[in-house]
Amino acid sequence: MADDTIFGKILRGDIPCDEVYSDDRCLAFRDIAPQAPVHVLVIPRQPIESLRSAGSGDEALLGHLLLVAARVARQEGLEDFRTVINSGAAAGQTVFHLHVHVIGGRPLDWPPG
Ligand code: C5P
Repeated sequence: MADDTIFGKILRGDIPCDEVYSDDRCLAFRDIAPQAPVHVLVIPRQPIESLRSAGSGDEALLGHLLLVAARVARQEGLEDFRTVINSGAAAGQTVFHLHVHVIGGRPLDWPPG
């Protein structure tokens, strides 16, 4: 399946990114519009549109993405951090290639807007 999203282009190397971690299943890079001192996105290499479209076959991959999110947070020197997955436009998803936000480096309010 072709991945015409901006993240598909980043994965193919058509658009550069500020990479912080990479393996055979995922890529992590700094968000272009950071909402905190640390704001990294962890994306699967496989083009899953959204968490809501993930299936039981994606179980290991989803676990891997979360473990990489924690690893990236550690790598960035964060003890406390937030992970966010927006699913669907009304929830704030703007890029329809699954991604885990890793945000930290400042106090974070709850609930989010
Ligand atoms: O959850 P949502 O879909 O809104 O997140 C998309 C994120 O991708 C945004 O935080 C946006 O800043 C980021 N982005 C990026 N590089 C791009 C386009 C979007 O880091 N070229």
